[in-house]
Amino acid sequence: MKSIKDKRIYVIYTGGTIGMVKTKQGYAPKQGYLLDKIKTIKDFYHNDVPDFAIHEYPQLIDSANIKPEDWITIALDIVTHYDQYDGFVILHGTDTLAYTASSLSFMLKNLKKPVICTGSQIPISELRSDASDNILHSLILAADERICEVCVYFNKQLLRGNRSVKVNASGMDAFSSPNYPALGQVGVDIELNEAYLRQAISGEPTEIEFKTMGVPKIAILSLFPGMDANILNKVLQPPLQGLILKTYGAGNIMNSPEVIHELIEASKRCVIIINCTQCLKGSVKMGAYEAGIGLVNAGVISGLDMTDEAALTKLFYLLSIPGLTQGEIKEALYKDLRGEMTV
Ligand code: ASP
Repeated sequence: MKSIKDKRIYVIYTGGTIGMVKTKQGYAPKQGYLLDKIKTIKDFYHNDVPDFAIHEYPQLIDSANIKPEDWITIALDIVTHYDQYDGFVILHGTDTLAYTASSLSFMLKNLKKPVICTGSQIPISELRSDASDNILHSLILAADERICEVCVYFNKQLLRGNRSVKVNASGMDAFSSPNYPALGQVGVDIELNEAYLRQAISGEPTEIEFKTMGVPKIAILSLFPGMDANILNKVLQPPLQGLILKTYGAGNIMNSPEVIHELIEASKRCVIIINCTQCLKGSVKMGAYEAGIGLVNAGVISGLDMTDEAALTKLFYLLSIPGLTQGEIKEALYKDLRGEMTV
């Protein structure tokens, strides 16, 4: 078994607050800044920290600007360096980090090495920054062979990537995975909750498989009291291929024949509609109430306890697989593909 110092971690730096500096227009990423700063911090070269190489992207971005094409770039970067490195760390803005982590989990099939996504609430350039602590622990976790999935590490917690959500805009505990236990926590010791880690499935190919994604036309719409069926009509118009419908509680919707009519018509046009709850915690149980039964009849699929980020990227992924019929996509949506939902 390799010692931690013999392990090599490939760090992909995409941008985000973590490496930003103050400018007249507010915080913005500065090329080279984070790399130079890391070189000055002795802890990163400690014997208990794996060796690492940082690949700074030529255009560092605020993650609010990330696009599905960027997810593909990151996934391909990991696949290209997969054999040379023991683990991967993605330095990313926190705003859309959960989307990126979810998308990577779908694109990287049969992943057997850790991919740890992290960022920070306070830039490394500022006093009290959480950046170097998050990077340091992500590096250590990325060297842990027990992890073979995409995770988010933030503020002492290791979370499953496709279960994580940004829940706090200003606190240091920016991320949570409300429907899945934390995979690990950092205290005096670094502890992994092994029972919750994704295990390699026996008979699964050992080779990583890169599954690319297109950019299908998808929307997310949150219900609100008094919502006009016309809004739904407009959103569901072609070329829309999929909709994440954010419903109340256990997956309930208003008892409106007009709203149900729009959903039925869209289903007939092969639009895939996933029912995700507006609640942060818990699962959709369609048909538990009269107010949810209309959705079942309209062919809407239960998103169970998936996050919006997981539902959206799962749909991106499935709609991008060439030749899948609508029935096959729906069938795959009911399956737990990468630990993203509790079936
Ligand atoms: N707007 C920043 C970003 O997502 C916020 C952050 O990194 O915390 O890139």
